[in-house]
Order: sequence, then C-alpha cells, then structure tokens
Amino acid sequence: MRKLVAANWKMNGLKAGGVTLARDLVQRAATGKLASELVICPPATLLIVVAEALKGSPIGLGGQDCHAEEKGAHTGDISAVMLKDAGCRYVILGHSERRASHHESDAEVRAKVAAARKAGLAVILCVGESETERQAGKTLDVVERQLVGSLPPDLAGLDASNLAVAYEPVWAIGSGRTPTPLEVTEIHARIRQALGPRLREVRILYGGSVKPQNARELMTAPEVNGALVGGASLLLDDFWAIARACG
Ligand code: PEP
Repeated sequence: MRKLVAANWKMNGLKAGGVTLARDLVQRAATGKLASELVICPPATLLIVVAEALKGSPIGLGGQDCHAEEKGAHTGDISAVMLKDAGCRYVILGHSERRASHHESDAEVRAKVAAARKAGLAVILCVGESETERQAGKTLDVVERQLVGSLPPDLAGLDASNLAVAYEPVWAIGSGRTPTPLEVTEIHARIRQALGPRLREVRILYGGSVKPQNARELMTAPEVNGALVGGASLLLDDFWAIARACG
C-alpha cells in the first residue's frame, strides 16, 4: 500500500514563504525518488498560489476544512466545491482543533464528508481521544464512536481512493508526546476492523508530534500507512525527512 504523507500547515504561512516551501518540496520530490504520496494542506488564502507552485508535480493539494453546504450565506466559510475549484484533491475533516474550538460534532463532520465526496474530494478524516479519555481507558471506544459517527451509514460511496483516516490523539498534537508504536498499531487495527473488509485498503495515518526523530519507528509500525504532520510540515528538511522515513 502506498503511504500518504499530508502536511497540515494550519493557520500558518504568508504568500512568499508558502510558495517557497511548496516549490522546494516540488524540487525535492522531483529528484528524491519518494515512494509515498505527498499532500500539502495550506491555509485557504494560499490555496491558489500553492496550487500554481505544485502544478505538474505529483504533490497533491488539500483543504483543512469545508462547509457542508455548496454555497450561500455562510460568512467566512469555504465549500467543498470551492476547494475542488481551487485545485484540491483532498480535504482534512474532523480535525480535533475544529472539533474543540468550533464545537464540531460527529454529525456535522459526517455532513461535511458527504459534501466533500459530492464535490469529488478525497477525505482525510481525523479521529482521536483526549488526554482524559485516554486516562479513563476509553481510547478505542472514542475513536470508534468518532469514526462511525463521522462517516456515512454503511460507509456508502467510500473506498480507498477517496478516504484516509488519521488517528490523532489530541494529547499528542503539538505536545512532543506520542503513543508507542505498539499502541498506534492496536488503535489502527481497531479502526481497520471498524471499516470492515470492503475498506481494508483505506490508508490509516498517524498524526501527533511526528518528527524526523520518531518518524521511522512510528511509520514502520504495522497498520500505519502514512502521517498527518502539523508543526514539522512547516520546515522543509523536517517534512522531507518524515516523508523519506515513510518510504
Ligand atoms: C495536527 O494537528 O494535525 C498535527 C499532527 O500536529 P503536530 O504534528 O504539530 O502535532
């Protein structure tokens, strides 16, 4: 299975720096013989210029969120159709930062997944437990509940070409802490089981403080099919080292 390595720039980057980073990655990908698929998810203001920088390269473009409606009176929001129009192949949905600061429920994420699929975007669906839930031994339950609640009933219309799942423990994001590779394997295995045999080729990414120093052991753990990278994706050498560690 070809691994997927996605860069989540979050609310970081201005035009000049974003374009330079994208161009530098294109250059490395052209000479670096990378087996993995790379995707850059910049902030919305940079989608068009990053799309331009990626043109003709194998690196994909992704949005960080979308609205469930196609258009209308939703000030400040962006629809899946607009992301597609800007050149996106992917959209990240259900990121814990949106679940927390925008109070997104599983039902809302599910509606966004439907909108993304209707627009022809592939979805990177994020799930992951909080520190409290982990300490209470609820990780597997929380992850499975989010997964089932955020995807369409019977997983209709989904396949390995249009869905990836990112397991991102909330407590690991931006903290420098990570679960052990064994823990990640166990949780990914549960996600794969919940997806069922028809979706067994769906890529399950790990995200949360992936760095060059820990990428190899996390990315080579069983059931790990790539990474969703936040902070380290803003640094060319670090992101490239992580992508190399994936193969
Ligand atoms: C993220 O928020 O998607 C993420 C993985 O962040 P970081 O790599 O900075 O922990």
